[in-house]
Amino acid sequence: MPGNYVYVSQEDLSLLSLDEKNRKNEKREKIYIKMQGRPFTGQLLHLPGVSCDNFSGENRNNDQFFLSHCHTDHMIGLDVNFIKDMRRKNSVKVNHKIFCSPISKAFLINKFQPQFKDIKRFISDEIPITEGAPPVVVRVFDKKKSEFYKVNVTCVKAEHCPGSVMFLFEKEETGQKNKVILYTGDFRLEHIRLPTLKDLHTSAGEPLKIDIMYLDTTFCSKEYEKFPIRDEAIQAIWDLVSSWIKKNGKNHFTYLSVSQCHRMG
Ligand SMILES: [Zn+2]
Repeated sequence: MPGNYVYVSQEDLSLLSLDEKNRKNEKREKIYIKMQGRPFTGQLLHLPGVSCDNFSGENRNNDQFFLSHCHTDHMIGLDVNFIKDMRRKNSVKVNHKIFCSPISKAFLINKFQPQFKDIKRFISDEIPITEGAPPVVVRVFDKKKSEFYKVNVTCVKAEHCPGSVMFLFEKEETGQKNKVILYTGDFRLEHIRLPTLKDLHTSAGEPLKIDIMYLDTTFCSKEYEKFPIRDEAIQAIWDLVSSWIKKNGKNHFTYLSVSQCHRMG
């Protein structure tokens, strides 16, 4: 969730895609991750005019918006007034958009179409979610410099909830090497799967050099040291439900109450 983010900056985040054994060896040789825990504001370093998962406060003055998934804590400020404002500005000469996955787009259309018949125009699912697909070039207006810049954006499936994605930004910097920025949003990637993710590796299969990562750390605590993999979690739910159903002939229904809010605003 946005309140539990760390900003990670380092030369090389390759540790993330090593398997357990190599990771331990690697740790002895080099660890130079600079981490800063802070509430995530929606703004990203090196990407002026871009907002991720926050549509309130100063973010409202930004040019392009990215929504990783449709959980309410990632949609703060994404309300009727935001859409009204966006439509008003877009009717002049700007072209603000909300970039998200096709599933998130469907959720947003369902939420806003009763009031805004043209809502589809402002929500873009043009960044493919297919693994290995080429990035999409997004033009962003930098207000301070009063000029546009281009950023390549790739969606990486986050496997957190339907339609959830991470955003990988690559921006050319004049006179410097390109800046590669990963915004994870909420994600549920298991370490077995991580080394196979094409979008986080080079064509040679090497882990991508990421300059800055905005990392969701909701479960990065001692309390969750033994975090079950998805299959274990499914099995536990299955066991719980079947034991309840079998308990006696009267138990036909099971109501599972989860803490995560999946409502649409
Ligand atoms: Zn979420």
